[in-house]
Amino acid sequence: MTFRTRFAPSPTGPLHLGHAFSALTAFEMAQAAGGEFLLRIEDIDRARSRPEWEALIFEDLSWLGLSWPTPVLRQSDNMAAYEAAVNKLRGLGVIYACTCTRRDIQSALSAPQEGATPTHGPDGLIYPGTCRDRPASAESPDVALRINMRKAFDIIEKQYDKYLFSTDELSFELPVVISVTREEACAEIGDFVVARRDMGTSYHLSVVVDDAIQKITHVVRGRDLFEATKIHIVLQHLLGLPVPVYHHHALIRDETGKRLAKRDDARALSTYRAEGRTPQDIRRMIGMG
Ligand code: GLU
Ligand code: ZN
Repeated sequence: MTFRTRFAPSPTGPLHLGHAFSALTAFEMAQAAGGEFLLRIEDIDRARSRPEWEALIFEDLSWLGLSWPTPVLRQSDNMAAYEAAVNKLRGLGVIYACTCTRRDIQSALSAPQEGATPTHGPDGLIYPGTCRDRPASAESPDVALRINMRKAFDIIEKQYDKYLFSTDELSFELPVVISVTREEACAEIGDFVVARRDMGTSYHLSVVVDDAIQKITHVVRGRDLFEATKIHIVLQHLLGLPVPVYHHHALIRDETGKRLAKRDDARALSTYRAEGRTPQDIRRMIGMG
């Protein structure tokens, strides 16, 4: 199996040190394995994506010394593939339309509940199930589509072992199994959104579809996405897509040990570049020099 990985930033702001670490880690793993490194532009959020940010991504990554094959896959050009995946999920009977606002979800959750169940998962607030019986068909684009996690596992368990998994070979000293059980998926993830309103897709769905289309064998990403990876593993099983190996790398922290905010423009690569820092300086700052 050839090693194929990718770096998949969203063009919604400048790349910062954390992105540099992620991109360089992926690039160097591909080099070490004699494999390939791809770049993908995750621009499904049309309201926040800008061509200027996309241009800066290319500039910053080339400056860092990375290269990748072209043409680069841009998610906004791949909407038909996400629509096909949504239709497949609809055909499986595992999605439903949800009209809840964030506030609706919050107030449903603040009602007294039994036991101490978690309220947040990798897809935000764990959905209380208000719209679960609503069909997913003949709805306006103005609704979100959610996965009914119980039904999803009913389908998955007909084809697979109860225990869904992939492996992680980077975040811990020994490879670990990333497993997802029905119980955990229902309690700690819940009915997540596969298609956001007016978007027709979501980060989770697009990333899984594209990793399959691009034949990604190894996903290199930050540990902040470890829980989200479980959603991706569920979707890969539902859609019958190959499950890549994951590498969740440590996150870059500042001098005080705080995680770097994604939108800390003072640490944008372009700011450092404008100040005359070199790619080697950047490597030193992220512990790769
Ligand atoms: N667009 C996502 C990000 O920038 C991609 C991460 C991933 O799926 O690995 O965080
Ligand atoms: Zn709802």
